[in-house]
Amino acid sequence: MSYLIEKKKQLLKSLREKTGIKDERVLAAIESVPRERFVMGHLQHEAWNDIALPIEEGQTISQPSIVAIMTEALELTDRHKVLEIGTGSGYQAMILSKLCRRVYTIERHKPLLDTAERLFREFKLGNVTTICADGTKGWPKIHGMEQHPFDRIIVTCAAKDAPPPALIDQLAIGGIMIIPIGPPGEQMLRIYKKESDEAYSFRNLIPVRFVPLLPNDPKKREAAEVEAA
Ligand code: SAH
Repeated sequence: MSYLIEKKKQLLKSLREKTGIKDERVLAAIESVPRERFVMGHLQHEAWNDIALPIEEGQTISQPSIVAIMTEALELTDRHKVLEIGTGSGYQAMILSKLCRRVYTIERHKPLLDTAERLFREFKLGNVTTICADGTKGWPKIHGMEQHPFDRIIVTCAAKDAPPPALIDQLAIGGIMIIPIGPPGEQMLRIYKKESDEAYSFRNLIPVRFVPLLPNDPKKREAAEVEAA
């Protein structure tokens, strides 16, 4: 255990000094979320290394420095309603939950979502709502209730060339979306700002490596999976 505490200290130092994270709230959130609980048992000793790690269903928990960069870029406040696509282990969602009013998170793999939900319950996160669905369509209407617009959207899997239109639609005017864009090997982390109903701007942040955002259509999905392999 003291090994992990030491590793955590080193990681936080590196997030400040190497990655250049300045937002103290983001650093405090990362410090407070036990990443070792979101990785597979036999990888717990690696949990505070700055690396992505495999989780079930062939997916990955993102690298802590990328989580920190994405979270900082969202400029969250405790009034924000945030949509996450790609719950995965639930790690990023728990970090977000500490910094905003409410998190809505979508995952297409039910077993991953089940594990993440158990952790959200264990950590008594009262402001995280989950659903197993296709995130390319945004948050669905449930019992006639819509949740958009979202102040912030974070996509933790890579879209091939552009954000899904439904996500742009569900972003509030003035809202920020962060999403990796590009085919495997050539992805860029992009930050979008929605200026009006018709206009948005974006800029590239850094090259990244994410698992693909898979469409729900089985034919398109197979093609994307083959390409990503
Ligand atoms: N935020 C996660 C990272 C998970 S990796 C974490 O902190 O652990 C990205 C996740 O996106 C994978 O679990 C993958 O199944 C999911 N994903 C890919 N395409 C999706 C889609 N269309 N809808 C919802 N989730 C999707």
